[in-house]
Amino acid sequence: MKKAVKFHGHACPGLALGVMVAKYILEHGNDFSIDEELVAVVENNNCSVDAIQALIGTTFGKGNLIFLDFGKNNYTIYNRTQKKGIRISLKSSGLRSRDMSREERIEQLLNSAPEDVFEIKPVEFNPPKEAEIHESIRCDKCGEPTMSTRIKIHENKKLCIPCYNQMVNRLNE
Ligand SMILES: [Zn+2]
Ligand SMILES: [Zn+2]
Repeated sequence: MKKAVKFHGHACPGLALGVMVAKYILEHGNDFSIDEELVAVVENNNCSVDAIQALIGTTFGKGNLIFLDFGKNNYTIYNRTQKKGIRISLKSSGLRSRDMSREERIEQLLNSAPEDVFEIKPVEFNPPKEAEIHESIRCDKCGEPTMSTRIKIHENKKLCIPCYNQMVNRLNE
C-alpha cells in the first residue's frame, strides 16, 4: 500500500482495491513486469489502476496496460511467458457499504481475503498484441512529429489527427 501511495499520491479505497489485485497476482506465480511479460486489461480508469501500474509494472507508457472504458472494476492479467490469463472482478457484494468511512473501507479491504471481494477465474490466453514502435512523420500543417499510424491523408497532405479534424470541420462549416 505504501509503494502504491507513493505513486498515486493519497491512500483511498480504490487504491486499496488495486493493491489487492496486484498482491494476488504477485502471490500467484507472477513477477513484477520489467518489460511486457505481463499485460493488464483494465475496465476502468479509477484510482485502482495506479496501484496496478506501480506494483506489477503494467504501465501506460510501456503499452502493457490496456484501458477499456467500461466503468467496471475488472482486471484481466495475462502472463506472456507462462501463456496464462486470469480475470479478477469486483463482486457486487464487495462494494463499499454506505455507512463506512474511507479509512474503515481501506482497512476492511486490506484485511479481506481476495476471494471474498473478487470473483477470480482463469481465462483463455488471448492477450492484446505487444506494443509496437512506429516511425514518426512530420505533419504537413503543424510540423509536429507524429506516429505514422496516426497520420491521416487529406488533399494529398499528411496530417496529424488535430490538424485533420480542423481541416474537415472547416470544410463542413
Ligand atoms: Zn485515489
Ligand atoms: Zn498537425
